[in-house]
Amino acid sequence: MQGLLMSESAPRSLHDLGFDGIAAELTASGVSTHHTKALWRALQREGELDLASRDFLPPLKAWVEKHVGHGKDFFLDDPPIVEEIRSSDGLTRKYLLKLNDGQIIETVLMGYDGRYTACISSQAGCAMGCVFCATGQMGFVRHLRPGEIIAQVLHVQRIIRRDLPGKRLRNLVFMGMGEPLHNYDSVMHALQAISDVRGIGIGPSFISVSTVGVVPAILRMAEEQRPYNLAVSLHGSNEEERSSLIPVSRKWPLADLVAACRAYGRITGRRILFGWTLIAGKNDSAETAHRLVELLKGIDSHINLIPLNPTGGFAGSPAATAAAREFQRIIRAAGIACTFRQRRGIDVAAGCGQLKADRRKLAS
Ligand code: SF4
Repeated sequence: MQGLLMSESAPRSLHDLGFDGIAAELTASGVSTHHTKALWRALQREGELDLASRDFLPPLKAWVEKHVGHGKDFFLDDPPIVEEIRSSDGLTRKYLLKLNDGQIIETVLMGYDGRYTACISSQAGCAMGCVFCATGQMGFVRHLRPGEIIAQVLHVQRIIRRDLPGKRLRNLVFMGMGEPLHNYDSVMHALQAISDVRGIGIGPSFISVSTVGVVPAILRMAEEQRPYNLAVSLHGSNEEERSSLIPVSRKWPLADLVAACRAYGRITGRRILFGWTLIAGKNDSAETAHRLVELLKGIDSHINLIPLNPTGGFAGSPAATAAAREFQRIIRAAGIACTFRQRRGIDVAAGCGQLKADRRKLAS
């Protein structure tokens, strides 16, 4: 019955289903769930794009031939790369991927100190509107499906296999286009697949979910004991400072955000990484640093200071080196870990908040 319904409805992504979903589809078609592992392995671990040519056992082979492919019940997410841009040092590569509906998203591969990190997008555009961010300046287009998130990781893995033999993807950060906690269900569904040891197998402790402060989702992550790292973009030590940079702070005020972080730390026992983009004259003063220390008292924190990345739509400039050093000194003196994030990939516009609005024209 379900098989009949499937063929009458719109094709679905096989990557969207997850391990249990694939098992359910096989069962519905009368195929033993014993075959799930083989299909999952081909899809996730090997990033197979041509399932029909695989040497599966006959029942699974027949199922794939009948149900997967153009005009059938299921398709594979494989957005083509429409542009690749490499940084001058060759260590950062940005890929523009074209989704089925023509939307362009960006995926970045960074390789420093022999460690490879993928920076993944969770939405086309973003609704949060952070004033210094090119993605925010382009507005929200749509959420990505789990398969579109997983496909970015598979792309990066294929590139590493092809160009960097012997290396492997170690870390995953959701710092590409979009606010991942605004697309909570898809992101968590994708992460379950990505961290599954039967498939891609990136350890949860090597995965970071970065949020601008979606308070209910932070609490949900804690309650659901999601085992990933949480990174919170703070950028302001009082409501006025913060909401001038992050308009969504009016919806989820700083006091609520800090309370949610406190609860997250208490429930999970995990340290939180706080991102702080240093902007000259805006949030780089000693007074702000002292206020920040007070604000985070009692929360196991690591503050990551980020030099402002240039974007066309924001006139602010990066903090001066002396101000940035003093800011760091005050925080460290209070016993809070505080480091500078390197300006990686700036020349390919792959820095945080640089994912370009003008790439939308490629979609047309
Ligand atoms: S910084 Fe992140 S949350 Fe803010 S607008 Fe840009 S993509 Fe969205």
